[in-house]
Amino acid sequence: METIKCIVCGKNKTTPYIEVSDRLSQNPELYQLVKCDCNFVYLNPRPSEDNIATHYNSPNYDPHNFSKDNKLGKIYKLVQWVTVRWKFRKIASFYQSGKLLDVGGGNGEFADFMALQGWKVYLQDKISKLDNLSDSKNINTVQNLETIKDDEYFNVITLWHSLEHIHNIEKLYFQINRLLKPDGILLIAVPNINAPERTFFNKTWAPFDAPRHLYHFQLKTLNELCSKYKFKIVRKYSLFQDTPYNILLSIEKNKPFQIIKGVLVFYYSIIVTLLRGPEHSSSILVICRKA
Ligand SMILES: [Zn+2]
Repeated sequence: METIKCIVCGKNKTTPYIEVSDRLSQNPELYQLVKCDCNFVYLNPRPSEDNIATHYNSPNYDPHNFSKDNKLGKIYKLVQWVTVRWKFRKIASFYQSGKLLDVGGGNGEFADFMALQGWKVYLQDKISKLDNLSDSKNINTVQNLETIKDDEYFNVITLWHSLEHIHNIEKLYFQINRLLKPDGILLIAVPNINAPERTFFNKTWAPFDAPRHLYHFQLKTLNELCSKYKFKIVRKYSLFQDTPYNILLSIEKNKPFQIIKGVLVFYYSIIVTLLRGPEHSSSILVICRKA
């Protein structure tokens, strides 16, 4: 385990926030989340980069589990079908074609869709299976951003739920700054610690996801992190599709009335997000440009 300073303000002034267990493991070990004076919540101490891989091995890890051919898997695939098109439209309002780098792109569903739309796509991921891609010839895969050459410039760089998994944020932004065109756009989607459903689930709120999720952003701290690395947010959105997903994963199995609770929390959360906007959504998407 390693201890770190706040990645947003660089200071070391934190108070305990919450202790959570690994929702995918029988291991009784508790992980400590801390809250910095600047309001940023993060996992501290945390497994080092060299030791994190074992925590992704659970057969119950959702991106793997949901791709199965059961009822939940079918719902997940439908939501994913809608979501990749939603993401595509957000990008198309800036650029209709070009070069895209998907950081932490997992099994490549988004990269694949973009390649089919004519984009030249690079996918970076350390642990991913790309066997199911239909247009793999238009996709370059890399394990590390460092290996992408200096003459490869991207119009678009995306981090769909990957920022919260990345250990070395300084190195990440250095690479993004190196690889993104001066007029390019950076899209970052992360779970929102101000999600309306969080208080109903407390320690079992799935996006705490210790020790895989290292950071817990809200719009303010995400904005501060981007400013620190010379990016400004030009648009922000609520990811409504993450509300049912988070609730489904947070529900405590085998307890009575959980389905009723889930439905009520779902309607409450959607109404709050509709009324109060991305700052109070389950996940936030921000689109940034170089400042
Ligand atoms: Zn801080």
